[in-house]
Amino acid sequence: MKQTDFDTYLLPTYKRQAVSFERGENATLWDSEGKEYIDFAAGVAVCSVGHGNDRLARAISDQAAKIIHVSNLYCIEPQAECARRIVSLSGYDMKCFFGNSGTEANEGAIKIARKYGERNGSIKRYKIITLENSFHGRTITALKATGQASKHDYFGPYPDGFVYAANVEEIGSLIDEYTVAVLIELVQGEGGVQPLNPVAVQRLARSLKSKDILLIVDEVQTGVYRCGSFLASHVYGITPDVITLAKGLGSGVPIGVVMSGIKDIFSNGDHGSTFGGNYLSSAAANEVLDILEVYSQSGELAEHQNYFETSLERFASEYPGIFTERVGIGMMQGLRVIDGDTLSNIIDLAVETGVLVIKSGKNTLRFVPPLTISKSEIDEGFRRLNLTMLQLTEYY
Ligand code: PLP
Repeated sequence: MKQTDFDTYLLPTYKRQAVSFERGENATLWDSEGKEYIDFAAGVAVCSVGHGNDRLARAISDQAAKIIHVSNLYCIEPQAECARRIVSLSGYDMKCFFGNSGTEANEGAIKIARKYGERNGSIKRYKIITLENSFHGRTITALKATGQASKHDYFGPYPDGFVYAANVEEIGSLIDEYTVAVLIELVQGEGGVQPLNPVAVQRLARSLKSKDILLIVDEVQTGVYRCGSFLASHVYGITPDVITLAKGLGSGVPIGVVMSGIKDIFSNGDHGSTFGGNYLSSAAANEVLDILEVYSQSGELAEHQNYFETSLERFASEYPGIFTERVGIGMMQGLRVIDGDTLSNIIDLAVETGVLVIKSGKNTLRFVPPLTISKSEIDEGFRRLNLTMLQLTEYY
């Protein structure tokens, strides 16, 4: 396909790099001209077990050869197995609902909260407090739940009932008799790879529990070992009422989950999805969980995560005039860059030198590689980023 076809046939919603990939192996990709790239982006924190993963490919093709889809009007065994695995890995007493994306998972969470507000108390509680710098998805409701005001342009009117706090500490002062839930990311993925303060989060969790206000944690980006543990909620030592997952769960096969500790919240017909949790996506997620559970338990995940973090720290310290701070947890890392133009130049030049890195927020260089990235891929990626920085200095 020619570059012009992208401009002719696709709505211009993305600023695309002019590169098409043909194949991949773990954290290494090759484009249509055979050029090699180290992938520090993993499809925005998605390809958790890497590209071209044999086991995942086999699980998908074996499942596809047998059965891909029936509706949720029948018992889809791999779906129930996936739910059992997720609940067991979470350690929380919850039940799951499967959709196809992070946004949908958050829509499910919002519906759970709204129904909980209907059932409990004499007035209808419907307000959900989120953070100003948050990102929760692109449907009209998830967009309104997203606190970044600039993203709200053009698409109104929106559903009522979302209130934005500047930070975790401010949430308490926004609670009123109509508040039913608080929705947060523990590390704000699109908002600059910004971890929330753990002490403030734990205090918030305790306070919400005492007020019967639900704590919904959006783990679409942080979940499935991205932050070291199966859930970032484990790292923060909290027990949310509702959790959403997506990105890393299928390692590229679309799947989203909302899991809830209020296990009887939905009745037949309250919620649904045509594709959610079908044979194909559930089989993929089960294989991903198989791979990552062993990878985590063996200590390899922690080892590679530490290696990545140390390499990143060393890289950043070479350029104190450009990188002002390292942020993030586990394999979800960021470097604050002095300004947005420099950040864009680094990302573009990095593609030329053969390494993929992406932007987060206004001025953060984001690193969310496959969790299975090898040490030699990490070394090679940072070697290429050093070459990128050399070109950047020539550029200025
Ligand atoms: N929530 C968070 C924290 C995200 O990072 C994203 C996507 O970047 C979403 C929700 C939306 O997920 P999706 O693009 O799968 O709908």
